[in-house]
Amino acid sequence: MKSSLAKRYGLLLALSITVIGIGELLLNLHYLDRYSERSVQTGQKQLTSVIEQQIIRDAELVTSTLASSLDIYVYNSDFSAIQELLESLSIEGDVLYTYISDSDGLIVHDGSNELNSYGKAVAEYLPADIPLGMTPSTRKIGPYVHIAQPIQSGNQTFAMLHVAISYTQAEEDIQRLTQSLADNSDQLRDNISHTMFSVILLLLCLSAVLAFFLSQRLLKPLKQLAEYCRQYADGDKKVQFTLERDDEIGQLSDALEDMKGAIAKSQSQIEELAYLDPLTHLPNRRMFNEELNSLIAWTDRNDDQLAIIFIDLDHFKDVNDTAGHDVGDQLLKMTADRLSLLLHSQDSLPDFPVLGDLLLSRLGGDEFVMLLPAYRHKKEVENLCRLIRDRLEEGFVIDEHRFHISASLGVTFYPDNAGSAQELLKQADIAMYAVKNSGRRGYQLYHREMDTEVNRDIALIQQFRIALEQDQLYLDYQPIHDLSNGSLVGAEALLRWQHPERGLIPPDDFVPVIEKTELITPLTLWVLNQACNDLSSHILFHHPRFNLSVNISGAALEDESIREKVSQIIKFYNLPERQLHLEITETSMMENVESCADILYEWKNAGTDIWIDDFGTGYSSLNYLHNLPIDGLKVDRSFISSISTDQQSQIIETIVALGSSLEIKTIAEGIETEIQRQRLQAMGCRYGQGNLFSRPLPLRPLIRKFNQKIVNA
Ligand code: C2E
Ligand code: MG
Ligand code: MG
Repeated sequence: MKSSLAKRYGLLLALSITVIGIGELLLNLHYLDRYSERSVQTGQKQLTSVIEQQIIRDAELVTSTLASSLDIYVYNSDFSAIQELLESLSIEGDVLYTYISDSDGLIVHDGSNELNSYGKAVAEYLPADIPLGMTPSTRKIGPYVHIAQPIQSGNQTFAMLHVAISYTQAEEDIQRLTQSLADNSDQLRDNISHTMFSVILLLLCLSAVLAFFLSQRLLKPLKQLAEYCRQYADGDKKVQFTLERDDEIGQLSDALEDMKGAIAKSQSQIEELAYLDPLTHLPNRRMFNEELNSLIAWTDRNDDQLAIIFIDLDHFKDVNDTAGHDVGDQLLKMTADRLSLLLHSQDSLPDFPVLGDLLLSRLGGDEFVMLLPAYRHKKEVENLCRLIRDRLEEGFVIDEHRFHISASLGVTFYPDNAGSAQELLKQADIAMYAVKNSGRRGYQLYHREMDTEVNRDIALIQQFRIALEQDQLYLDYQPIHDLSNGSLVGAEALLRWQHPERGLIPPDDFVPVIEKTELITPLTLWVLNQACNDLSSHILFHHPRFNLSVNISGAALEDESIREKVSQIIKFYNLPERQLHLEITETSMMENVESCADILYEWKNAGTDIWIDDFGTGYSSLNYLHNLPIDGLKVDRSFISSISTDQQSQIIETIVALGSSLEIKTIAEGIETEIQRQRLQAMGCRYGQGNLFSRPLPLRPLIRKFNQKIVNA
């Protein structure tokens, strides 16, 4: 059985007081014993001394009186008178001997009738310690007092009276008196002990009362507080700890009440953290999921509809990379504010009936989602998408820097597109991904066909990650020839993916997908590294003036970090000036013309040549061509294949003429026939590559080609 704190402490207190009381009592009794013993001893000693002195005084008085009475009789040798006087002494008390000796120490009388000792030396009859002579002396030896008293006539001593009076009676008196003293002392001790026991009993009673009082006054409220704590722990958040008291228990109850407040506060903070995104203070993914689930149920019950808009910022990573994460965070906060403002202003959304119910949340990174319950027409949702797109494109000024950012939005509608909360979110995400695929910026409404396309891409991206890690990639090299003499002047590095199950996957089937992901950076670096290594370690040894072209994806240029990494690789291999050519497609170069100019100049300064790939398919501005550090144009193979038509032939001629006017080289790709080669040569095109010369080759066969005689047309 559990004993309560009150009982335990009460008992403990009573026990402590009892133990202390009994201890104190025993100690006092011990002292009392010793004290009474000592007082009895002292009393006995003093009594004995007083009685002894008195006896001696009495005995001396008696003998001196006797001696003064005897003088005349001794002087006259009146033996019968002497005997009478001496006998009178014996009657007075217990007398051991009475002798009268003359000045020679001889006995004159011994107090008896017979006088047997008459004339004998008194010394023989007295104890050895008794001084002999004519002077008075008193000695206590054994139970007798031995007194020698001079008998004088005038001032002259002529005889001595020797008396030994018993002391026994006095000793009995002393014993009796001492006994009575001890008895009195014992009685006194008993009385004191009884009094002390009574006091202890009283103390015990008092301690019991005190324990009871404590349990009532102190422990009862503590018990009550413990009960409140239990109730609070069991989930009763309304419990009040406050007790109206001014003492320490009152303080304790106040402290518990404060603690309750603090717990409530931190609990709400925990809940906030669990449900709110700490950066933007928007609902987080968890809250979004819960909200979406309940909105789906609400929509079902009310036979209503619900729209979900998935918003992803375009190239947000660049902001982080170039301006740092703090600026990136600020941009996200500003985006959240802008979107919230949009949702809470009736002006911007006049058609939405229940603005309060629109939910905006941040799922993570640069991903935001909006829930639009009870929308009336899809058109309204599309209007909102356009509004969001436009608002976000208004630009952000952070720390005096201006950022232009666009967004890709994906939309799905419930119940048009049925599914769980998770599936609906995925649909909106897929629609957003479709926007990214088609060049970003804008919105798309989800439809089922998007699934296969997106899923295929997603699977491809996952497999490509593995390909990068497991060396499934390699390079082929397609030779480039001087069209005037047929000599091999270089090659273009072309990426190959040897998939373990699907076999060889051509770059056109995966590079465009990878370009839409951040994997384009590691891919570009891998190709460049591999090509530079092949050139410096294998090719230059055989062909010191060999030019190697490497394709750089326009998407890779969007990653700020690539600028430095490419420069590092170029420096690392320390290749001869201008023998590494970087090919960038016309379309991607023109898309990023302003931002990529710096990068191209940097690479150019590092010793590379910059070529525009697939030239003719994009829309190059002559001005840009003039201002960018371009070394060559690569005519797209679509023109070459249809070179026989007048129109295409004119385009090629124009491109070649443009090249020569800008004083840059031209190269034709995809030359398959001798006629095409001849025409290109006739047009003034300097270099060419294509199946006519060679298909793309692995490194070894390429090197073997250096020694072969090129077939000249
Ligand atoms: P591209 O840079 O224009 O490369 C030339 C493409 O034309 C190559 O296709 C090549 O095999 C093909 N070709 C060459 N001669 C002929 C010919 O006579 N007839 C025909 N029909 N085709 C010919 P490939 O290797 O399939 O590459 C396709 C595209 O993939 C490349 O076009 C390039 O845009 C991209 N690519 C290839 N490797 C890389 C790379 O390492 N990085 C990047 N970013 N893209 C690459
Ligand atoms: Mg190329
Ligand atoms: Mg090309």
